[in-house]
Amino acid sequence: MIEEIYLDNNATTKISDKVLEEQCRILKNYYGNASSVYYLGKESNKIIENARVNIKRSINAAADDRLIFTGCASESNNSTFFSAINCFPQKKHIIVSAVEHLSVLSTAMFWKEKGYEVTVIGVDHDGKLNIDEFKKCLRKDTLLVSIMFANNETGVVFPIKKLVEVAKNIAPEVLFHTDAVQAIGKIPVDVKELGVDYLSISGHKFHAPKGVGALYIRNQAPFKPFIFGGHQERNLRAGTENTASIHAMGIAALDIEYLIEKSKNNEKLRDFMEEEIEKIEDIMIIGKNSERLPNTSNISMKNMRIAELLLGLSREKIYVSTGSACNSKSIGTSHVLTAMDVPKEYQQSLRVSLSSYTTGAEINAFIKEFKKIIKKLRRK
Ligand code: PLP
Repeated sequence: MIEEIYLDNNATTKISDKVLEEQCRILKNYYGNASSVYYLGKESNKIIENARVNIKRSINAAADDRLIFTGCASESNNSTFFSAINCFPQKKHIIVSAVEHLSVLSTAMFWKEKGYEVTVIGVDHDGKLNIDEFKKCLRKDTLLVSIMFANNETGVVFPIKKLVEVAKNIAPEVLFHTDAVQAIGKIPVDVKELGVDYLSISGHKFHAPKGVGALYIRNQAPFKPFIFGGHQERNLRAGTENTASIHAMGIAALDIEYLIEKSKNNEKLRDFMEEEIEKIEDIMIIGKNSERLPNTSNISMKNMRIAELLLGLSREKIYVSTGSACNSKSIGTSHVLTAMDVPKEYQQSLRVSLSSYTTGAEINAFIKEFKKIIKKLRRK
């Protein structure tokens, strides 16, 4: 008997038992402030440094690269913009893609209102970025490029390594940031290979708790703090460290290789699900012709009343979402699908995102219920 079926893992993931246990152990026993000089403080500090090593290792960062802990990836993204602008106040040009998470897009728009020139690169029907358009937009005085590793709504993966090469060729001084929130734990992320200057991470997308993130900063890349105050994080991010959550994220990072391995199974389940669902008339799988995350499917139905579909599934305790989680309270059109120029009648879509916990039985139950509800809604 299946209790509930959670297929919204791009919104957030279930904290793993091991991680939860570890988080509770640290919360209970290591309550010292990591900045305190006595034993309890030093122990907290050791725990944080251990987590830093684990997370750096999981993205193949060099020993002298930096990684700061943040409150979330939204903070990591905002910090990157704030830092770049403060490091090079004379440079005024920023490039982002049209399908970024709002924590990048809204930040870019904020700085646009402050007088920055922001170029928003479009994508095609498949969600692919136009590299020629990207080349044309780059200038010697471009300050920052912020382009995500993988899209949270469609799972489409961008060729970050290639984009970094192109960018640094045209504008050697440009700073390159990637929001890798959705890629971590699903596909390999190797900062050495990518050549990025900054990379954002969020714990709750790979079975760590919510409210903890990190920002990778390449050894030579300039960085100025976004939050001022104490001397924590080597003066790069003030605020008493959340020792237990940082530790939990560090423990979760130890499983990243295993999660990537499990993703192959996710891909099989996802592809099977899409095959079954595509048998229904007037269905479109968004981004299917592109390289995608193995766990993500964006299913669009012609003129579908998506709220009713979501509600129907929710009644059966099947949890999926429409577009990104941040938009799920107001079901409007997604800026990602709009950027992909998805026909209006197909702009209401369902995002199904699997995790290492997802089973074949759950996918079968989802397919069955989905077909049943669609049939009912189409009869109305
Ligand atoms: N970037 C992407 C691609 C995301 O999917 C999300 C969360 O949905 C975020 C950033 C924000 O992460 P956080 O919730 O840690 O602020």
